[in-house]
Amino acid sequence: MEKTYEKSGGKGGGGDRGDRGDRDGEEKRGGRGFARRKVCRFCADKKIIVDFKDQSTLKYFVTERGKIIPRRISGNCSKHQRAIAKAVKQSRGLALIPYLVLAS
Ligand SMILES: [Zn+2]
Repeated sequence: MEKTYEKSGGKGGGGDRGDRGDRDGEEKRGGRGFARRKVCRFCADKKIIVDFKDQSTLKYFVTERGKIIPRRISGNCSKHQRAIAKAVKQSRGLALIPYLVLAS
């Protein structure tokens, strides 16, 4: 009486899952469309100066609600952004730019 049972099968060699792991790590895509790294327009064009009397220039940096547009959006350099902020404030004092525009 010979019982020959062979223990076959079982869970053979695991571990050959498909070949992954060779994707190149290029999944940096956070572009929001707006990130065009624009240069501060005052630096780009030396003819424009920040002038608190110059509403037409300042209004580019102020929303219609009267807020100063942040540097990340306006693209100004820090130096000129500060100049803008100052000019806008002076300009407000002269009532050239509103402090606040109420939505109507
Ligand atoms: Zn600048």
